[in-house]
Amino acid sequence: MNKEEVIDLHKHYVMNTYSPELVLVKGEGVRVWDIEGKKYLDFMAGISVSNLGHAHPALLRAIREQSERIIHTSNIFYNELQPPLAKMISERSLGGKCFFCNSGAEANEALIKLARQWGHAKGKYEIITLKQSFHGRTMATLAATGQDKVQKGYNPLQPGFVYAEFNNVESCRAAVTDKTVAILLEPVQGEGGIVPATPEFMNGIRALCDEKGLLMLCDEVQCGMGRTGYWFAYQAYDVQPDALSMAKALANGIPMGAIVAKPFLSNVFQPGSHATTFGGTPLVCAAALAVFHTMERDHLLENVRTTGAWFEVELKKIAGHFDFIEDVRGRGLMLALVLNTPAKPLLRLLEKHGLLALNAGEKVVRFLPPLIVTESDVNEACAIIRKACAELVASPS
Ligand SMILES: *Cc1c(COP(=O)(O)O)cnc(C)c1O
Repeated sequence: MNKEEVIDLHKHYVMNTYSPELVLVKGEGVRVWDIEGKKYLDFMAGISVSNLGHAHPALLRAIREQSERIIHTSNIFYNELQPPLAKMISERSLGGKCFFCNSGAEANEALIKLARQWGHAKGKYEIITLKQSFHGRTMATLAATGQDKVQKGYNPLQPGFVYAEFNNVESCRAAVTDKTVAILLEPVQGEGGIVPATPEFMNGIRALCDEKGLLMLCDEVQCGMGRTGYWFAYQAYDVQPDALSMAKALANGIPMGAIVAKPFLSNVFQPGSHATTFGGTPLVCAAALAVFHTMERDHLLENVRTTGAWFEVELKKIAGHFDFIEDVRGRGLMLALVLNTPAKPLLRLLEKHGLLALNAGEKVVRFLPPLIVTESDVNEACAIIRKACAELVASPS
């Protein structure tokens, strides 16, 4: 098929939930190719999914070998790979147990259910979430999401969620009632515009939760798995949440979600209280284990810190040259240009010159390169960004 045929067939048979333009057919490392053979530097990694880049040999080997052994067992049986993966996650985070599922929304559903199950005996169920947050598209997670655009047309919304201001502890305190069970937050808001939580906010929320007997829950679906230079973004702060969710990069593109809890929350779910057919299949666990092993063998957290710092400096230099760029913000390799104009025209120019990036809200250009990215890849990307910015100024669209 050629490009037009793919798009035509898609428009006939696939529901129109996105508005894609490119047809991508191949990837290798930090580069992808479209159906017409044009090469791009991939600085979005499938929305922070392909953290090891495309076609990483360790991932391919793990998938191939495991698929020849057994792909799926269901959770009616033990499989050999869930326990070591859970241990891997637990030892790098909260020290308790994991539950495996298949996506970010499902991982957040599990967090919400865990909090409700835990609060049930005390009659507590309400969860405070933050404005401009994003937690997913299922009925409960879209109700948890503090953005109207995600909720429009889906009334009645799942009750039990109230919204407070991000980076504002007093706003959260004011939202606490005798029904509140938890506060759910992204340590770095992703879809909301790459906005990091302040240390004061993280410390203040932990203290508020301790004072009121609430659970502190982190959605690390986008900012976790090394993206900010730590296994989990909360680790840049002095506090620990009581449970957290992860997904996106967990198995580098094989769909997978998980939650991990502190020990005191680890036995809240019992047989019958939560379940999933696909969660934690041998195949996906093999992929996730390969991700952890490769991240450690190749020192990718260190790479995120050094290459991320380099990228941030270069972006700040670019921002200094263009009045329409108001700010550079983010953590590690989760960085953004905050514009005073819509992001789409700049994104189109970046794509034209061979760089894939993505927006986060209307006026924010977001960069989420694979964590294997090198300084030389960053320099190549920055040359494109510079050129695209100059072109935008010369002929604003
Ligand atoms: C992407 C995302 C989700 C939803 O994940 P899905 O796998 O699309 O369900 C939830 N929370 C955050 C912070 C995300 O970035």
